Amino acid sequence: METFDAIVVGLGAHGSAAAAALARRGQRVLGLERFARGEGRGSSGGWTRMIRIAHFEHPWLVPMAQAAWDGWRALEVETDQPILTETGGLYAGPADSAIVTGATAGVASFGLEHELLGAAEIHRRWPIFEPADDVVGVLERQAGALRADRANAGHLAVAERAGARLRFGAQLVDWRTARGGGFEVETADGAVAGAEHLVLTAGPWITELVPDLRFPIAIEREVPMWFRPTVDPAVVGADRIPIWVLRDGDTMYYGIPHDPELGLKLSIHHWGTFGDPDGIDRAVDEADVARVRAWTSRRMPAANGPLVHAEVCLYANTPDETFIIDRHPAAAGVAFASACSGHGFKFAPVIGEILADLVLDGVSPSWPMERFAAGRFGATTGR
Ligand SMILES: Cc1cc2nc3c(=O)[nH]c(=O)nc-3n(C[C@H](O)[C@H](O)[C@H](O)COP(=O)(O)OP(=O)(O)OC[C@H]3O[C@@H](n4cnc5c(N)ncnc54)[C@H](O)[C@@H]3O)c2cc1C
Repeated sequence: METFDAIVVGLGAHGSAAAAALARRGQRVLGLERFARGEGRGSSGGWTRMIRIAHFEHPWLVPMAQAAWDGWRALEVETDQPILTETGGLYAGPADSAIVTGATAGVASFGLEHELLGAAEIHRRWPIFEPADDVVGVLERQAGALRADRANAGHLAVAERAGARLRFGAQLVDWRTARGGGFEVETADGAVAGAEHLVLTAGPWITELVPDLRFPIAIEREVPMWFRPTVDPAVVGADRIPIWVLRDGDTMYYGIPHDPELGLKLSIHHWGTFGDPDGIDRAVDEADVARVRAWTSRRMPAANGPLVHAEVCLYANTPDETFIIDRHPAAAGVAFASACSGHGFKFAPVIGEILADLVLDGVSPSWPMERFAAGRFGATTGR
């Protein structure tokens, strides 16, 4: 049996960041990923993600988002490729909506550079938006778009460069405490490997790896889409419009500026269909596209051009719309993260470091770990 210092199971955004963090600290790392390299059937697929600092969902996440921003900049240097494009971020809706009050609390509490804009001013600055009259927006300066594909590949490259072994098409089917200490993992092909530390970052499949902890995670089908604009693409590029999240009625819409390679990203935050990660319908149909077009035709007609691409991606939601990042209550050398709820990607450089801290030192002193505790839903028991 081959042995390592640490084994990371699941190489999406957080597992690849954890593999890089551990390998940078001199750990001999094995990374196991069920699907092919870059296949992205969990939560990290697709080309791009937003990075927002004001964080209207949970303003207390602002310092973590700021640290993550620096982490992405550092990864760009480490991998010599662009990952983060600064665009500014617009968070808009009726004045009393949670998106506006949350973003306002975030910018005020942390002194973030921002402006408050009414509907007419939003349209004047960026004619692509045609918001309802009662819409107001918080525009923060520091926000942008991440190339998710390069971000994941970058963390994996850093890990490999530091000696990590990565296996793709390697599905973990069991992990257990080893007789002489540490842990053993077994993959579907029957291979067994050992390590002192184990990091479980299986995204929507995390409950399969720790069924005893009974995490109340709901897996939701999402359909990000990319369109060609009906106007000159140059006027809706990353140097012209911000990333944006807009509440209209009960629904939150979001988008990322036009990229000549990819198109203009646009979708709905929380599509509302739930299921088992292996059972969720992966096909995108006419009704999915029509649902987005019904809104863009009213509120962003200039974005309603030909569809470039659409795919299914999964949210893993906790009841409080945040993350679970913790050590296993009955196995101190095991740490896990379910960090999605539709907004976890941006934090990957920080969460990778937290997971390395948890398995190597037992604590991650820089962050409010009680907010991420596995036991906060009252269901953890341990094996
Ligand atoms: C449509 C969409 C838009 C989003 N937009 C944003 C955004 O703008 N900004 C933002 O910050 N966040 C966003 N998010 C959330 C963000 O993408 C997630 O928080 C993040 O990708 C979670 O990464 P992960 O590594 O935890 O999970 P995953 O990416 O799902 O990785 C888990 C990996 O584990 C593997 N795995 C599972 N079981 C096993 C096993 N038994 N053995 C081996 N491997 C296994 C899976 O194949 C998978 O690759 C969005 C998510 C979606 C779906």
